[in-house]
Amino acid sequence: MTVRTRIAPSPTGFPHVGTAYIALFNLCFAKQHGGEFILRIEDTDQQRSTPESEKMILDSLRWLGIQWSEGPDIGGAHAPYRQSERMDIYKKYALELVEKGHAFYCFATAEELDQMRAEQQARGETPKYDGRGLQLSNEEVARRLAAGEPHVIRMKVPEEGVCKFNDLLRGEVEIPWVQVDMQILLKTDGLPTYHLANVVDDHLMEITHVLRGEEWLPSAPKHQLLYQYFGWEMPVLCHMPLLRNPDKSKLSKRKNPTSINYYKDIGVLPEALLNYLARMGWSMPDEREVFTLDEMKANFDVKRVSLGGPIFDVEKLNWLNGQWIKSLTPTELMTRILQWQNDRQKLEDIASAIQPRISLLSEAVNWSAFYFNHMPTLTPEMFEHKKLSAEQVRQSLQFAIWRLEKTFTWNNDTVSQILMDLANQMEIKLRDFMPTFFIAIAGSTSATPIMQAMVTIGPDLTYARLRHALEVVGKPSKKELKTWEKLNESLELAKNNSTDS
Ligand code: GLU
Repeated sequence: MTVRTRIAPSPTGFPHVGTAYIALFNLCFAKQHGGEFILRIEDTDQQRSTPESEKMILDSLRWLGIQWSEGPDIGGAHAPYRQSERMDIYKKYALELVEKGHAFYCFATAEELDQMRAEQQARGETPKYDGRGLQLSNEEVARRLAAGEPHVIRMKVPEEGVCKFNDLLRGEVEIPWVQVDMQILLKTDGLPTYHLANVVDDHLMEITHVLRGEEWLPSAPKHQLLYQYFGWEMPVLCHMPLLRNPDKSKLSKRKNPTSINYYKDIGVLPEALLNYLARMGWSMPDEREVFTLDEMKANFDVKRVSLGGPIFDVEKLNWLNGQWIKSLTPTELMTRILQWQNDRQKLEDIASAIQPRISLLSEAVNWSAFYFNHMPTLTPEMFEHKKLSAEQVRQSLQFAIWRLEKTFTWNNDTVSQILMDLANQMEIKLRDFMPTFFIAIAGSTSATPIMQAMVTIGPDLTYARLRHALEVVGKPSKKELKTWEKLNESLELAKNNSTDS
């Protein structure tokens, strides 16, 4: 048997360090066994998946030096590797399960299910699908299907007993069936859910080992059942510990930048980031801290993964990066620095922004420094503004973060529209509103136009600097967050209403 592993990212956002971490372990596991590592795009969520996100994920994994032998970009024997191009396959399998009596149609409307859940909650029960579709007679199902009534297909799940499965790191895991919902397999629009598509594809793509994040552990019973229903052998499961913030909470962008692009932007070397991710819950047999991907592949043993939640600590990453930088020759370092900002478009944008401001080339250094820096040095006093209260300054930063994070198209129009709308809705004149952003991004109010600069430095560095600024002026408390969220929404709503009319 050839060992085959995969990474199956959903292209719904920025390339997450967690994706690289799981990809790395899948790659090393496959190579340790002389096997193959492949990449599949799980874009069944058509509302949230974007080609931009897919491209960023592939680019950033490639930048890290993670190579796959089959994937949407290079094809392979099991193509296509993008689930949106495999939609016909899943329906057939869902219908097969209905025919075999392992799945059933459900015609319940969203309102009906809401009511069901509300009643369960009122009785003090955990809301769960109650199996109402199973009560329908074959005739009724046939009639309603013929009438074209909207429906989903759900899988049957035992009502009692315990599901047992093996996990490579955890041994036997037990999850009571009552905790498992009768999962929708095919949605009203005829498209599959993650569970169906994932199981079908892992089988068809001959995946033998599934190494994935711990957050998928509760899905394992559904998957095991699906493999049984189809009569297929289930891949070996291995749920990796989740990356955590230094305070032990699940790694989240609210506390730590999580986009691979951010680490690339601030000048982390790809080898160092991989090396750091490798150290998340794993160590070399000789405990050495600095090692290459090839060394990791040669020494890999999944049994050395420890289940204690690994802490993703940016300070430690910076230290490790420093070790890598020190190990380079000056020539290599020079090449790396030049490669790091070798983005023609970015350099041209900077040149165009500083052009009206300089009369000597040497002045370019100061004017452009903030485009390359990591973070400006900030103090709370820098944000004091005679026309704005401290709360307005803090809110403008927080609201801008929330709104900018929602946009996928990062250009002059979108960024400036978001900030101008926000100023308008907060009833702050733009000339009073903008200094906060100049300080947050450039560390000074005398800098090149800042909205354009935000576009040039890109979303990841922009978010990181805005968050850093908010920390300096005072992060909102939990209570403030709640009221601010509502306020931000109502401001946005007011804007939408006024543009509708
Ligand atoms: N598409 C899932 C994700 O985004 C894949 C989970 C799995 O590996 O099964 O993480």
